[in-house]
Amino acid sequence: MKQYDTEILSVGTELLLGHITNTDARDISEMLSKIGVNVRWHTVVGDNPERLAECVAIAKRRADVIITTGGLGPTCDDLTKQVLAESFGLKLTENAAEREGLYEYIRLGKRYTPNNLSQALLPEGCTVFHNRWGTAPGCAFEAEGKLVLMLPGPPNECVPMFREYAVPYLKKLSEEQIVSHAIRIFGIGESAVDDLFAQEMNAMANPSMAPYAKECDCLLQVTAKAGSEAEAEEMMAPVIRHVKERLGDYVYGMDVESIEEAVLPLLKERGLTFAAAESCTGGEIAKRITDIPGASAVFAGGCVTYTNEVKARLLGIDRELIETNGAVSEPVARLMAERVRALTGADLGVGVTGLAGPDGDGTHEVGTVFVSLAAEGRTWVRELHLGTFRTRSFIRRMAGNHAYDMLRRYLTGLPVCPQG
Ligand code: ATP
Ligand code: MG
Repeated sequence: MKQYDTEILSVGTELLLGHITNTDARDISEMLSKIGVNVRWHTVVGDNPERLAECVAIAKRRADVIITTGGLGPTCDDLTKQVLAESFGLKLTENAAEREGLYEYIRLGKRYTPNNLSQALLPEGCTVFHNRWGTAPGCAFEAEGKLVLMLPGPPNECVPMFREYAVPYLKKLSEEQIVSHAIRIFGIGESAVDDLFAQEMNAMANPSMAPYAKECDCLLQVTAKAGSEAEAEEMMAPVIRHVKERLGDYVYGMDVESIEEAVLPLLKERGLTFAAAESCTGGEIAKRITDIPGASAVFAGGCVTYTNEVKARLLGIDRELIETNGAVSEPVARLMAERVRALTGADLGVGVTGLAGPDGDGTHEVGTVFVSLAAEGRTWVRELHLGTFRTRSFIRRMAGNHAYDMLRRYLTGLPVCPQG
């Protein structure tokens, strides 16, 4: 199969100034890796026509596919279409459907200035990617043996447009279908996973498998190329089965973005709800579940009980018990889960208390966290020592992952605290 070496050329001075992160290139790369297109270069250039033309010339020499982001809008610094068209000797012509669309936009009284109409100018003969998420259309054209795709810069336009238009467009180039699955793992590190499967992975070609570390968990990406999607799935099935058998209950899901995304349907299926009393996570557990549509069916609510005083007042935890044991302790964590469960009437209660640092409390080292889960008649507590060198955000995220892992284990009938 022909390899399509791809270059992503992001246009925008803000990117060079460090005002914004090049999330478009990251997200496009991620989508391309899933369909087996090789991204070989990321280039960033400012809104300057000479330097952009220079970058296009370089990309032309080395890449088969050039994907640009940004600079498709109506303002005078938006030069991508002009420069790309010129570099390939194409004229810009007005696209009738896009012009009508822009008139319609104007008629509806939306944000408009006369230069908006320049957005209907597109390279002659291109395939238009109509922008349902904004106004500037994207496009694709083939010239000089290269395939060029242009997407607008704002991520809420670029990403859905790439998914809807560019991915199917690029998929058509190949007779082979590439299908990929991410097996998500929590409780065992990337290096341990790598160690377990290193030999097999080295020997595998198609399907292939590779481990990736995320901030607080990891994944194994399994990818197969075949004549059809069904065939690719068939090739991957035994590999996935084998990995799941080998890793057992460390696997929390497939093709999900996070552990809470795996927990939500488990709660839903069982018709159960949970509530959370959080100290060091500062509401992160509540935020993470409520970020997912449908959370109201499974999440009752929660509270951030940060000081001892609030732990006593809101949750009714005995002040003396807090003082004797310290707020970061097994008995306090246990009571937080039990009390929030009772207070909210949820089926399950989660509690988190810990030291996210960087300062210690004189008793515990930074990174000490107690995570608890209360169900009818039983409460579990995990004591974690996440490391004194960890950042606050790592400790919070990890504590949240443990809380969701305890829920997941409870809901699937696994031991909630397998370590002890
Ligand atoms: P618009 O019609 O909004 O002007 P455009 O295609 O001209 O779209 P730009 O003007 O280059 O895009 O960028 C608009 C905004 O999109 C930027 O201010 C920035 O917030 C965001 N943006 C641009 N490029 C990127 C990128 N590569 N990654 C993430 N965000 C980006
Ligand atoms: Mg712009």
